[in-house]
Formats: sequence, C-alpha cells, structure tokens
Amino acid sequence: MKQAVILAGGKGTRLKERLGELPKPLIRIGSRPLLGHHLALCEKYGFSDVLLLLGHGAEKIRQYINEEQKPGLQLRCIVEPRSLGTAGAVFAARHLLAERFLVLYGDLMIRMDLDRLWRAHESMRADATLVVHPNDHPVDSDLVEVDKEGWVRAFHTKPHPPDLFYQNLVNAAVYVVDRNALEPFAALPTPLDFGKDLFPLMLDKGRRLLGYRTPEYIKDIGTPDRYDRVCAEFEKGVIERSALDHPQPAVFLDRDGTLNEEVDGVTRPDQLRLLPGVAEAIRMLNHHGIRVIVVTNQPVVAKGFCTEADIEMIHRKLETLLGREHAFVDRIYYCPHHPDRGFPGERQDLKVECECRKPKPGLIRRAMQELNIDPNMSWVIGDSTVDIATARNSGLPSILVRTGHKGLDGRQPVEADVAFDSLVEAACYVVKKTGRQP
Ligand SMILES: [Zn+2]
Repeated sequence: MKQAVILAGGKGTRLKERLGELPKPLIRIGSRPLLGHHLALCEKYGFSDVLLLLGHGAEKIRQYINEEQKPGLQLRCIVEPRSLGTAGAVFAARHLLAERFLVLYGDLMIRMDLDRLWRAHESMRADATLVVHPNDHPVDSDLVEVDKEGWVRAFHTKPHPPDLFYQNLVNAAVYVVDRNALEPFAALPTPLDFGKDLFPLMLDKGRRLLGYRTPEYIKDIGTPDRYDRVCAEFEKGVIERSALDHPQPAVFLDRDGTLNEEVDGVTRPDQLRLLPGVAEAIRMLNHHGIRVIVVTNQPVVAKGFCTEADIEMIHRKLETLLGREHAFVDRIYYCPHHPDRGFPGERQDLKVECECRKPKPGLIRRAMQELNIDPNMSWVIGDSTVDIATARNSGLPSILVRTGHKGLDGRQPVEADVAFDSLVEAACYVVKKTGRQP
C-alpha cells in the first residue's frame, strides 16, 4: 500500500474573498473541493494510505472527510498544534510514515501521472525526488539546477545575478521521499521548510536528490486571480489532459537556423542569438498545451570543438533568453556524435555511427516515449532537409521554416509537407491543426 502525505494546514489569507469561512483545502474547483481532487488522485494511483496534516480549519476538514465516503482510502488526520513548516509537520508525524511516501501540498491544484513519478524515484534509487517544472517568470523565482541524468546539483535562490544563464526549472512542491534519508535531519529546529531548508541541506550532505521534470499541471491557487484561472482551466479540460497518462501533442524543433542564427557550429554561449519571433512562437505553443521539444545534432562535441559542459551552458542561455520572454521548452535532446574521423583533437568515443544523429529518429523516439507524445498530433519543424528527412523517418509530418538554411542545403532528397517563412507562422499552423484553445 503506497502512502501519500497531504499538507492541508494552510490558512489562505490572500484568498479570503473567495474562501469566506472555509479553510483553503476546501475551496471548490469544479464540483468538488480542492482536497477532494487530491483524494481522487491518490485513489486513482493506488495511494490508499493517506495522512492528512491539518492546522487551520482542522474541524471543517475532518467534517468533510467524514461526510465524503472514500472506501478505497485509509485516511488519518493529524493536527499540528502550531506551524512547524512543511518538513517540520512531516517530521512531527514521523511515527506514522511509511518507508517511502508521496508529499502533496493542499493548496496546489495537481494533476499528474503519479505512477511515472513513483517509478522514476524507484528506478533512480533517489533519497528524495522533487518535481520540477519551467515557469513563466524564472528570473524572479528560486531555481533548481539539474544535471543531464536528472540529479539536482544546486539550488539558486533569488535574486539572481543579471549575467546568470539558468535552466528554467523551479521546485513544483510535489515530492517522493524515503523515510530513512530524513532520519539524520529529524532534530532540526522548526519551522522547517522542504524547499527552503531541508532539501538544500540534504544536498550539502551528499543525499541523492532527483529532479523530475514534467509538463503536467501543478499550480498554486493562493490569490483570487490564480484561483479563478485554475477554475477556468479545469472547466476547459486543460488540467486533465496535461497528465502524462494522456498522449500529448508536440512539436519537435530543430535548433540552429530554426531557433537561433545559423553560424556553422555554436561552440560558445555568446554565439547563440535567438531569431526574431521565436520566443513568441514558443510562447504560443506553450499556451495551447503543445509540448515543445528541441532535437539537435551537435557534432561539435565529437569533433572536439567544445565539450558537453559547453553545450549545457549554451542550452542554459537558450532557456534564459526564452524565459525572459515568458516562453519555455519542455526538453532539449542533442546528439553529440559524428561518424567521420580525422579532426585534430576529436573525441574518439563519440566518433561512432549512432542511432540519435538526425536524420535518424533516435532522439524523437526517446522523447516520444519519455513524454507520451501522440504521433497523430505532432510535427517536426526545421530549416534543413535533414530535419525533413528526420520527420519522414519518424513517421511524422514535416514543416520547413525558410530561416537558416531555408531548406536549400541539398543534403537529403526530400520535400517538406508544408513550408512557412517564420516559426510564428509554423506555430499558428500547428495550433490550428490541433484545434486547441488557449
Ligand atoms: Zn548520436
């Protein structure tokens, strides 16, 4: 039996006008209270042992639990005598914790595939897994830095230096935690917060913290504006369809010549300059719930012109520039390989015939699996015949943009299904084809 711990002690001061006398977890979204959505989520994914940590409004929440029969769930309530912080409240309920447990915040609207999350935590053997996601104002958010394998490497608290290139990733406040990994920290003074206090400390002490990156729906309802937006998105079905157990529409975007200026091999961040309209196009795709996935060949690594760390930094710059314009990519996949030998200083280990170098479909296949992409609702967009051939080899429709190589590189004998002068026009076409409302 899997365990979920729901932190439902929040006061909701800023929501007073919408709440009236209700505690925040009982605010309505659609036909049921927020807490009802959490319980339904737990039930759906087999988290049948539920610990509710209560504070403000505990009596009303107990009353709701008693009236709302949930035969599939074993519910227990614990009332905090005073505010201990999120981690402090969990420590106070230590005697009731399972070996491994999920933590949900009672003031977030959450719809995600909890099986996927749980499996990721188990397969990576993490001490704790933090769900992370991009947000539309990264520059004034606390950021999480995650390496290629997904391990958390640093927490960057705001304000950030103006010249920092960052991944657009913030802590979404959904966790899977192993009880044993917490034990050494149990005596810390309260109030103690997971995100601000405990996780940075665990990272310092060498604990294995996994960053689980997902495009699924996790949003705060803490102000009247945010609450109203969540209600509207619930009514439109945006929340339900964001979950990764539903196939997702996507665009697979080439990088050089499509997103940024073509310069014959970007090896340093200062060579990366976004093309006009790119942020606007990506923002439009973001707003319509279309996954944005970058797939790019970077043979500059195999050729020894730059390192994988340089590529990571170049991609941070890409995310930073997009983030400034409130746009984000869901994933970036790159092939560091190159088949032909003969460059001085080349990386012998990467001089191979791989399965990921476009026009091979390896990168796209991996992305389709990792993000449950719907092949009937996805497109490959690029500026070269290699991208068009990649689309064909992946069984997806292709869109040529007449930027960068403008499709005139002559490397593959293929023609695109459609062509546009800019990424904005291509994005409009995709949005129209999916029939998605913003
Ligand atoms: Zn490759």
